[in-house]
Amino acid sequence: MKLFLKTLVLSLILLLISLHAQPQPYVILISFDGFRWDYVDRGITPNFDFIKDNGVSAKSLQPCFPSKTFPNHLSIITGMYPENHGIISNGFIDYTTGRYFTMSDTIEVRDARWYRGEAFWETAERQGIITASYFWPGSEVTDNERHPTYFYNYEHSRPYKNRVDGIIEWLKLPYEKRPHFITSYFDAADTYGHKYGPNSEEINQTIAGLDSILGYYFQKLKEIEMLDSTNIIVVTDHGMTEISANKVINIEQLLNGFKYERGDSGPFMLIEPAEGELEKIYKKLKDAENHFKVYKRGDVPTFYHYSNNPLISNLVIIAENGWGVETNKSIENFRKYGNKGNHGYDNYWMDMHGIFYAIGPAFKENYQVGTINNIDIYPLLCKIFNLVPNQLIDGNLERINNVFEARRIRSI
Ligand code: AMP
Ligand code: ZN
Ligand code: ZN
Repeated sequence: MKLFLKTLVLSLILLLISLHAQPQPYVILISFDGFRWDYVDRGITPNFDFIKDNGVSAKSLQPCFPSKTFPNHLSIITGMYPENHGIISNGFIDYTTGRYFTMSDTIEVRDARWYRGEAFWETAERQGIITASYFWPGSEVTDNERHPTYFYNYEHSRPYKNRVDGIIEWLKLPYEKRPHFITSYFDAADTYGHKYGPNSEEINQTIAGLDSILGYYFQKLKEIEMLDSTNIIVVTDHGMTEISANKVINIEQLLNGFKYERGDSGPFMLIEPAEGELEKIYKKLKDAENHFKVYKRGDVPTFYHYSNNPLISNLVIIAENGWGVETNKSIENFRKYGNKGNHGYDNYWMDMHGIFYAIGPAFKENYQVGTINNIDIYPLLCKIFNLVPNQLIDGNLERINNVFEARRIRSI
C-alpha cells in the first residue's frame, strides 16, 4: 500500500512537471548590415510596417564604438563592449604577437582565440538549445565547442533567397535535430550605402529589396506553419552617413618622419608609436587637432568604452562626424572609387544608429520604444530562452525587458 502511494505521488509529480514544461521558443536573428534607423521612414518598407503594427519597434539601435561591422556583430551576440569581447575593429594588430586580425583573412576570422566574449549560441548550446547560423561574424570558428551546431562559412555572394531557404530547411528537421536559435546576415544596405550614399536612389532600391526579403521570410515560415511560433528579430550593426572627398585629413603626411604602426582609416585611426615616439607623436597630433581628436588609450572618453584592452593602440584618433582621417593610399582610393557613404564614427551620432524590429510570441504587439543599446540584445535572447546569461556582460536586461509579452515568457 505504502509503495503504491509512493508510486502514485511520484507519477503525479512527473505529470505536473511535464505539464509545466513548455516547448522551446524559436528565434531568427536577422542582421541587415548598415541599415540606418531612419530607412524605415521612406515609405518603401511594407514588411517593416507589418512588424511595427504587430510587434515591437525601437526608434533606433545604438551601436558600440567603433560603429563597424565585426565589433558590433560581436557586441550584439555577446552583450559586451568591443574592449571586452576583443574584436576592437574590423582589422587590428596584436602588438604582442605581431598577428593581424582582418575580416578577409579566413584563418584569423576562424581562430577562436580572438573572440573573448561568449556568443549567445555558446550560452544556448551549453544549456541544451540547438543553434544555427546562416552567417554571422564569429560563427565559423574552428573550435568545436564555440560555434553553432549548424553554420556556413561566410560567402559574400550567396543569393539572399538561398539563405532564407536554407534556414527553412533547418526548421524542417526532425524536432530533436532542429535548431531553435538561428542567425542570418545580409550585406546589401552596407555595400550600396558605401557606394552610393544613404540618400541615393540606389540605396532606396536596396532598402525595398531587403524589405521584400523580410516578406520572403514571412511567406516561407507561413508555408511550414511556423510563422506564428517564431520570433523574428531584425537588427543592424551600425548606420551610414554621407562623406565627401573634401573632408579629409592626411594623417600619414602629418606624421611624416615619425615611427609608428597604423590601423584603420576614415572615421578613426589606430596609431601605435614605436618605442620612445609616443609623446612626440601625441604632441604633433594634438597641435594639429582640427576636425579630429587624438587620445592616449587610457584617456579615450569613458562613454566610448574603448580603453580597456591592450589590442587598442596607444593612440586613438577619432574624426569629426563626416570627416576622414586618412593615409595617402586611402585618399587615392577615395578619389578613385568615389565612395559616398561610411560609418565607424561616434556611436552616439544618430547617423550611426541602426534598427531594432521584433515580432513573435515573446513580444508585445504594436509597441514602440526609444533607443535600444545593442549590448542589451544578448540578455534579451537569454530571457526569451530562459537561460542563465554569461555573468561578464555589459548589457542589462532591465533596460529592455519592457518589450516582452509577459504572459508568453516562460519564467514570468
Ligand atoms: P564594413 O567594412 O564594416 O562595412 O564591413 C562590411 C563587410 O563585412 C561586408 O561587405 C561583408 O563582406 C563583411 N562581412 C560580414 N560578415 C562577414 C563574415 N562573417 N566574415 C567575413 N566578412 C564578413
Ligand atoms: Zn556593417
Ligand atoms: Zn560598411
